[in-house]
Amino acid sequence: MTARILDGRPIAEATGRCPSLVAVLIGDDEASTVYVRAKARAAERCGIDVQVRRLAAAAGTGAALATVEGLASEPAVDAVLVELPLPTGMDAARIQAAIDPLRDADGVAPRNVNGWLLGLDGPRPATAQAVMTMLLAAGCEPAGRRAAVVGRSAWVGKPAALLLLEANATVTIAHSRTRNLPDVTREAEILVAATGVPGLIRAEHIRPGAVVIDVGTTVVGQGPSERIAGDVDVAGALEVASVLTRVPGGVGPVTTAILLRTVVQLAEDRRRAPADTE
Ligand code: NAP
Repeated sequence: MTARILDGRPIAEATGRCPSLVAVLIGDDEASTVYVRAKARAAERCGIDVQVRRLAAAAGTGAALATVEGLASEPAVDAVLVELPLPTGMDAARIQAAIDPLRDADGVAPRNVNGWLLGLDGPRPATAQAVMTMLLAAGCEPAGRRAAVVGRSAWVGKPAALLLLEANATVTIAHSRTRNLPDVTREAEILVAATGVPGLIRAEHIRPGAVVIDVGTTVVGQGPSERIAGDVDVAGALEVASVLTRVPGGVGPVTTAILLRTVVQLAEDRRRAPADTE
């Protein structure tokens, strides 16, 4: 008898390729470049393929829209992410809204935003989910507690407030036009800072014993003194808060882990329903 040689390659192809994420990186924001690299490294460890599509800052909203819309017809792309912030003058809302909802890694396409507003299943903004994961890890149950979110962007502050509300916290959203910010934030047992203003939240903003989640990540300093700073003045906060998340190394890596989990979920959903999605 002559043995039959079994070729694994077609079997592997039929079984499926690795989940794939395309990160659209527009302009040369230093922090965004670092974050995309970190995501790519973390993705590689999980067997997720990450490609970066770069556009120059001068490309304009039209070119960005064309790139993002074009990704919806690439069969090998399971998930798409537009790295923020975008260069000044670009319409971030329109560009995010152009992401195919079936490939929306960060839950920002309008259909998915509707979904999370209505409490339906589907991708949700990873950073907001990371805030909730950090609270859980801190042993902090939001139900019935007063929470304040400082920052109201559509992809960080608002969804974080909504998830806290969904978890039955009583939520206040503060922003740059809020008067007497310390009076507002000092009420909060859970304080989420998401402004990108380093050191904005000091001891006087924090209720004794509060759990403080620092989402801010801003590059400060130059050359050898360059570092990533959060929104919270760490020395002051440590005197008053019961828990403070680290920056860097706090909400950031948890956000990446959640994002990658969503990429895998989107890839699985597309494998299950290929006719609808390709
Ligand atoms: P954004 O779009 O610039 O929004 C900033 C928000 O902060 C706005 O709502 C703004 O108020 C508010 N704000 C600014 N200055 C303020 C002040 N002095 N007092 C009170 N509120 C103030 O930024 P974003 O995209 O939401 O990101 C916020 C921060 O989170 C940034 O540092 C970003 O790098 C970081 N981030 C971290 C992660 C992570 O995974 N760790 C992920 C995403 C973003 P107005 O609306 O009134 O202008």
